Amino acid sequence: MKSEQDLLITIDGPAGAGKTTLSKILAERLGYRYIDTGALYRGVAFEAIHHGIASDDDQALKEMCSRLSLRFELMDKQLRLYSGEKDITDLLRTPEMAMKASAVSARPVVRSFLLDLQREIGLEKRVVFEGRDMGTVVFPEAEVKFFLDASPHIRAIRRFKEMKGASSQTLEEVERDIIQRDRNDSTRAVAPLKAADDAVRIDTTELTLDEAIEKMLKVVEKNARNPKLNE
Ligand code: C5P
Repeated sequence: MKSEQDLLITIDGPAGAGKTTLSKILAERLGYRYIDTGALYRGVAFEAIHHGIASDDDQALKEMCSRLSLRFELMDKQLRLYSGEKDITDLLRTPEMAMKASAVSARPVVRSFLLDLQREIGLEKRVVFEGRDMGTVVFPEAEVKFFLDASPHIRAIRRFKEMKGASSQTLEEVERDIIQRDRNDSTRAVAPLKAADDAVRIDTTELTLDEAIEKMLKVVEKNARNPKLNE
């Protein structure tokens, strides 16, 4: 049997489905690295806002990306994102950045820039990648793929609690933003949000974290996607 040590695991799904929390726990339980690819899109959004670049200005986005250096560093078990020498991690999780990330992520110039970066990070395996197109586009060959989902209302409640007063948005506004982002992300022409055919779908609406993680660990143990791995 192929060792659990060698796997590349992808976790896709809409905002608030539990991807971040579950990816982190799964990675920790397996002794893997965890990569939050949404942070990369938010990083591009941050720089675009900083440079006053409109979300549909492909030429300016392309030039900006060609000069951009985004990299992750692990500090005290926390994943930090650097743009050049600046740690931008704490500036990324605002409603404004989420919407700008959703807008720039629809542009092929941005996706192709981040595609290369993500594949480079994945070369070493033993990674849990969280995003929207990990199992479909970036790592179609991944050994284990998950697609997490939950009702829009419960996803909004989770996001709202997570923001803990960091934003002035009401629960209704959070839910409206989530539905809008889902629509942007799943209807864009390039790499839309959807489950890979061979992804294991988990609806987390009624699951506790423990229940969800147990389900995921079972799938990882079985290497369910490719029975050959179990030979
Ligand atoms: O996951 P997070 O909410 O941080 O992602 C922010 C936005 O980045 C998403 O709404 C989506 O538009 C984009 N994204 C993407 N592909 C990924 C990860 C994120 O298009 N792999």
